[in-house]
Amino acid sequence: MSKLQVVALPNGQFVQNCYLVADSAAGEAVMIDPGEESERFLAELQSRGWALKSIWLTHAHIDHIMGVGAVHGATHAPIALHPLDRPLYDALPAYGSWVGRRLETPPPPQVQLAAGQLLTVGELQFEVRFTPGHSPGSVSFLGHGMIFGGDVLFSGSVGRTDLPGGDALTLMSTLQTEFLRLPDSTIVYSGHGPQTTIGVERHTNPFLTGAYRLG
Ligand SMILES: [Zn+2]
Ligand SMILES: [Zn+2]
Repeated sequence: MSKLQVVALPNGQFVQNCYLVADSAAGEAVMIDPGEESERFLAELQSRGWALKSIWLTHAHIDHIMGVGAVHGATHAPIALHPLDRPLYDALPAYGSWVGRRLETPPPPQVQLAAGQLLTVGELQFEVRFTPGHSPGSVSFLGHGMIFGGDVLFSGSVGRTDLPGGDALTLMSTLQTEFLRLPDSTIVYSGHGPQTTIGVERHTNPFLTGAYRLG
């Protein structure tokens, strides 16, 4: 018997959502996008008694990977990233200096993510979806009626495409082919802001209803 538990940990100056996804029956968790407050993420794991099995990255923007080095250092959990976001990942010190932070490049990812790959936590399985546009190597994790979509789709908005590696047409194509084909009931856990559902966004998100078009 598995038991799925999701813990959202909004944190840091970018108010980024780090997620713990656990099979609490097995006492195992993965961490999606360890942003700024690594100490807090580790404390949360410890207080729940979960062993960290892996670090899954939706993409390698600074706000989503600032805590990777510290969490990996404390847990030795393998780091999983799509190779197309590796240049962003390796450039963390440069992006850090833009926001006045002295940051080191995290250890190289041990797992190369690819579309269709199946990942597990305890007895639970998630599928990797390739969802580029916000960044070249953005991926989402789909399973159990939910999708962890990084910065692709937000409650009432969509991901920026003016950041390094962003592309607006690619993002719109990703939204059409990878997100809007999911059932309305699918819960969307975004990289920022509250959770939502595909149905709510399909019907009310101005970027998806056609009320607003990217130029
Ligand atoms: Zn981002
Ligand atoms: Zn972000």
